[in-house]
Amino acid sequence: MPRKPSLSPSKITTYLACPVKYKWTYVDPRGKWFLRSKSYYSFGASLHSVLQRFHDEGDRGVQTAEQAVAALEENWITAGFASPEEAEVALAEGRDLVATYVEEHYRRGPIGRTLYVEKQLRKELGQFVLIGRIDRIDERDDGTIEIIDYKSGRSETDSEDLLNDVAMNCYQLLVRSMLPDRKVLSTIVALRTQSRTTVEPDPAALEQFERDIVAVGTEILNRDYESLLPTAKDICLECDFLQLCKRHEDFAEEVEAIARREPEGADA
Ligand code: SF4
Repeated sequence: MPRKPSLSPSKITTYLACPVKYKWTYVDPRGKWFLRSKSYYSFGASLHSVLQRFHDEGDRGVQTAEQAVAALEENWITAGFASPEEAEVALAEGRDLVATYVEEHYRRGPIGRTLYVEKQLRKELGQFVLIGRIDRIDERDDGTIEIIDYKSGRSETDSEDLLNDVAMNCYQLLVRSMLPDRKVLSTIVALRTQSRTTVEPDPAALEQFERDIVAVGTEILNRDYESLLPTAKDICLECDFLQLCKRHEDFAEEVEAIARREPEGADA
């Protein structure tokens, strides 16, 4: 039997943002010529690799703020930065963030233990397999499971946003499937400020989310991408595929109208 296709939270959120963007990213090979490296991805990946090592019980090499800074320098990714100077400014910020994170971790003290870091999970959902890589899964002393997601670009966290976060709710489905008898919390950590928010999603809301994800996933897999036309919206102005979509005349006119109404000084 052929293997079922897999969908990740990033594939699903790309589709929800714009089905044409999904097509250029995952379906039509012409899209890859237009993809650009993003400095914020490099920044996030560099920070994540340090926090993974810090929380990995099998890796004793990153246990202090100094070791975290050294690990960041060693694994620093420069792709997507406009210049070496810009990358250096970001590295200086990254050093502060990882050092503060480690100090804050010891100041707060442990409330359990880390079960997994960068854990890849999968769950069959109808026509597809939902997959996800989770930054960290902890077990609190009372047996409660806590899914922890680091956000390197964010300064604030908000419970309502967290309850509606597609990626986190996918992680909830994956972890509950692996540990069905446990209470499972969702926690988001904004690395820029060390602010964190924890919520316990309502099981009925998660059941509805699962039905929605099955419906969206089925649509993603069965969409006729060949005849899909781009529609102009604000996010197009920052999209890697703008030039590709602009080959459609109507779209080009509509998106230029959006660019003209952008406030003074905004990037087009
Ligand atoms: S330019 Fe707009 S329509 Fe085209 S892929 Fe990007 S977001 Fe979608």
